[in-house]
Amino acid sequence: MNRTFRDRLAAINPAYATFDSLQTLQVNMGDLCNLKCSHCHVAASPAGKRNMGRGVAEKIVSLLEGKRGITLDITGGCPELNPQFTYLVEATGQMGLRRIVRSNLAVLSEPGMEWLPEFYLEHGLVLFCSLPCYSADNVDRQRGAGAFARSIRALKLLNSLGYGSTHELNLVYNPGGAYLPGSQSGLEYAYKAELSARHGVSFSNLYTITNAPIGRFRDHLEKKGALETYLDLLAERFNPDAAGAIMCRTLISVDWQGFLYNCDFNQALGMPILTPEGMPLTIDNLETAARSGTGLALGRHCFCCTAGEGSSCTGSLAA
Ligand code: SF4
Ligand code: SF4
Repeated sequence: MNRTFRDRLAAINPAYATFDSLQTLQVNMGDLCNLKCSHCHVAASPAGKRNMGRGVAEKIVSLLEGKRGITLDITGGCPELNPQFTYLVEATGQMGLRRIVRSNLAVLSEPGMEWLPEFYLEHGLVLFCSLPCYSADNVDRQRGAGAFARSIRALKLLNSLGYGSTHELNLVYNPGGAYLPGSQSGLEYAYKAELSARHGVSFSNLYTITNAPIGRFRDHLEKKGALETYLDLLAERFNPDAAGAIMCRTLISVDWQGFLYNCDFNQALGMPILTPEGMPLTIDNLETAARSGTGLALGRHCFCCTAGEGSSCTGSLAA
């Protein structure tokens, strides 16, 4: 019998299917991106038009006042291309937050973005940079021709500013196809050895993320007739040790219009957090959405978070 994801969680502990406490507010600034990666779960591209404006950014800033100690996780698309990115960073600088920016590295070599590395440094931002492999061929296949060389140039520049030594610079790996990531610690070891030996590049930690069966990656699987096989693989590799640590128990995701979701995957799927009457909650209702015990919006895609070592925006859950 096929049991739902919710059933699998509830069989271990009913609380695992509910919100616990707010530790991370993840802000997705929109779908504009300088790249158009084949695995992108938010279907971002240079043509992205759904991007956060000042009104929503101001609401986020005012809600973060008094939230000392939580993490502000800024993502996209390519968040640095949104004009509200600098506002959001500058306005939250004195709030005692850990502030993460998810960068695709290649943005550092876009025309007009020369200011960006110093801006990261000046504002004490923690960088999570996607680099799906240490081999140029694999990266260019996923991200487009030349993406690897641009990423290495960006990493060297960031290293020269102290990122990867005195300042936190993490890399994010995702598989190049319909399979689970290998061991996070093993991949980190290999990345460190290869990037240091071949390119003289260093970084802090490597985090592995399982490809979610949504967005452009789902389209790709459907075209190959491989979607069901991948969904079955995720369910078969359900790891009970990862179940209690799924990120949606402590994270809320905000979209460009201010609607709230249990995670960025649900956001990409258009599954907002709803009131009991079925109305979507917005940033104005953050306290309601973040109430302990509130039920999570779960679906079949959720098995990507509990397969193998488990997966979250900050890497594996049960390594
Ligand atoms: S995966 Fe990241 S870098 Fe690639 S298109 Fe999507 S948002 Fe942009
Ligand atoms: S996909 Fe989102 S809602 Fe589902 S388990 Fe993972 S983090 Fe939670």
